[in-house]
Amino acid sequence: MWGAVGRAGGSGLRSAAGGSPLPGGPLAGKVAVVTAGTQGIGLAVAAGLAGAGARVVLSSRRAPHVEAAVGQLRAQGLEVSGVVCHVGQPHSRQGLIQKAPETYGGIDILVSNAAVNPVLGPALDADEAAWEKIFQVNVTAAAMLIKLVVPHMEKRGGGAIVVVSSLAGYLPFPALGPYSVSKAALLGLVKALAPELRARRVRLNAVAPGLIQTRFSAALWEDEATRQRVMSSMGIERLGTPSDVAEVVTFLCSPAAAYVVGETLVVAGGAPSRL
Ligand code: NAP
Repeated sequence: MWGAVGRAGGSGLRSAAGGSPLPGGPLAGKVAVVTAGTQGIGLAVAAGLAGAGARVVLSSRRAPHVEAAVGQLRAQGLEVSGVVCHVGQPHSRQGLIQKAPETYGGIDILVSNAAVNPVLGPALDADEAAWEKIFQVNVTAAAMLIKLVVPHMEKRGGGAIVVVSSLAGYLPFPALGPYSVSKAALLGLVKALAPELRARRVRLNAVAPGLIQTRFSAALWEDEATRQRVMSSMGIERLGTPSDVAEVVTFLCSPAAAYVVGETLVVAGGAPSRL
């Protein structure tokens, strides 16, 4: 299994918040692709993987975001490149997956992080276009990216893939029905694909973040009263940070997680998820 390749015994945890790459870090020599890697969780993941020694191709829809993220991480001494990629568009996905081998010679790691939520409110108020957009970007695009990237990983002797799901996949969030269903679908995607991918020496896992302080979740924490109410209902003492998630993603991509296959790790500060 690919997870056993490279230096064992380190997950990159010291570097996941960013900073200079660890000399001989657990992901040294690896090439990683990160979608939605220009802000929030994705940007922290790109920093974490690069800090653990990987060369990282990060991406998102908007060129200024890509340029800013690449500039920010290069200024920290990290080896990163950027590509504009809207994961809902097949040509855009293909462009991203072609670019990484052209730039760095192959692909060993994929973090599928992009998601949208265009509707808030009762699930039955969401129209068909909203359901289709949510499933196209959040679920179908993840499956298609995995399909594209696996042949590249096989050329390298295997790889590791992490899908970013959500606590909402286990416990649907109020007013976020279609989004929650899409995140539950990702839990199923991991279970369905992990055995196929294991046979091809690719480890597939997921993370399920709770409430993480990013632009995406601002409606749940910007207003102090709302934040207190949400934290109390979740039973958490603080909001999560993008680095909290990046630490776990970096671990799942590392040789330290060689025996973790087809799992979803909840990163939610103790918020109830499942037995
Ligand atoms: P964020 O800080 O708002 O960042 C969103 C990122 O997604 C940006 O880089 C954005 O860049 C990119 N993006 C949006 N649509 C895209 C598309 N179609 N194709 C490619 N990139 C796209 O969000 P976040 O909170 O870090 O969320 C990241 C992931 O974590 C999502 O899958 C989300 O569901 C999951 N999550 C978040 C939380 C939370 O509390 N924040 C909890 C559980 C799960 P551009 O605008 O340049 O495209």
